[in-house]
Amino acid sequence: MHEYSIIQSLVDSVESVASQHTGGTVHHIYVDIGELAGVDCDLLQTAYETFRFGTICQDVPLTIDRIEARWECPHCHIVISRGAVLRCPACNEPARLAAGGEIILNRVEMEVA
Ligand SMILES: [Zn+2]
Repeated sequence: MHEYSIIQSLVDSVESVASQHTGGTVHHIYVDIGELAGVDCDLLQTAYETFRFGTICQDVPLTIDRIEARWECPHCHIVISRGAVLRCPACNEPARLAAGGEIILNRVEMEVA
């Protein structure tokens, strides 16, 4: 399942961040999920609850932030309004996805010994 492989790499990333701060304790992790990333956030949370046992994330809460899709013109950088035709109103260039496709480990809160 897609969501499980995301969680797998998420936990790997947290472990690698933690390994750079030996003895530190991870308190909270935050991920950004774009609305067009094709990720089911509920399923992602469930996958995390299942997967985290026995990992560095066992007692670490996960906060998922949903990022709204934003389209813009690659030339003029005009932001295309939501629901509008995905072309630039100024130069007619096809719009480019500027936000909303991402899957990002945004922040790891940890206490460093
Ligand atoms: Zn344009």
